[in-house]
Amino acid sequence: MADVKEIKILQPDDFHHHFRDEPYLEHTVPHAAAAFCRVLVMPNLVPPVTTTAAALAYRERILLRVPANVKKEDFIPLMTLYLTDNTTPEEILTAKQSGHVYAVKLYPAGATTNSDYGVTDYEKIMPALQKMEELGILLLVHGESTDQSVDVFEREQSFYETVMPMILSRCPNLRCVCEHITSAAGASFVEKAGPNVAATITAHHLCHNRNALFKGGINPHYYCLPILKTEPDRQKLLKCAVDNPKFFLGTDSAPHSLDKKECACGCAGCFTAHMSIELVVEAFEAIGRLDALEDFVSKRGAAFYGLPAASGTRVLVREPWKVPENYPFGDKSVRPLRAGETAAWKLRPRL
Ligand SMILES: [Zn+2]
Repeated sequence: MADVKEIKILQPDDFHHHFRDEPYLEHTVPHAAAAFCRVLVMPNLVPPVTTTAAALAYRERILLRVPANVKKEDFIPLMTLYLTDNTTPEEILTAKQSGHVYAVKLYPAGATTNSDYGVTDYEKIMPALQKMEELGILLLVHGESTDQSVDVFEREQSFYETVMPMILSRCPNLRCVCEHITSAAGASFVEKAGPNVAATITAHHLCHNRNALFKGGINPHYYCLPILKTEPDRQKLLKCAVDNPKFFLGTDSAPHSLDKKECACGCAGCFTAHMSIELVVEAFEAIGRLDALEDFVSKRGAAFYGLPAASGTRVLVREPWKVPENYPFGDKSVRPLRAGETAAWKLRPRL
């Protein structure tokens, strides 16, 4: 395998990305546009994107920040809405009719960054879920229990043992993506569920287990939610990523400014947009499965979303490069994953 020097794949997509909002789009959009074609945009702004009108306005703000050398067909933001207790079936219909909103994201209230507006009462969201099931709008799930008495490393398992079966029993044909699956239990749930249930996996959860959080001291830049899990969990994710068509890349690249990561109570989220594909290559190469790369990053997600197959190709080369210590982020900076380290692979810019 070490003799592989170059890999050519169809343009990759990212089915889970946090751009944040102004004044950060100037810096976050170019990172994503440099690597990905279709990018599913998470709606957890402050305030969250709860209406189609807000999603379309956000889409315009993102498009204004696409670098001039990126062709229109090479970068396509796919919008999502933030599900609340008050999301109406009418809003779901409006979202569908817009042609730009593909999914609605369920954050259990209090589960992660900017989730305070999230769902508190599952009974209240049933009319919206039933409308989504009818219209083919996807439900994206941040699958973690918000019961603070549940161990932080077991909150994903708890969610997939309780809440998710309940949702699917009420809406058996709802198309769902279990976002950023991190545990063997979560992955097994998706494997056993019907063909309407898929999952994303991040690049950093494929490369790292929870030891990364504590290597040589506490490492806040490896802190994200759901939190990194054990090595057996990582091995299970890798196996699903290379072998199972239900699993595809969603980077969950989630920038926070340096001061909000390196402080007494640091925010959850890893910034990986600068090298997401390279991280997947590293993880797959380590188990001798570079053959699965294109399926995982370029094909399966689009297929599940009913989007056209990717067009255009990208080339990765085995070419060591030093990951910068930080990147600009509005008037602040963001420290990327692997800052200061040497990466083995590099995604070449588009020709
Ligand atoms: Zn996320």
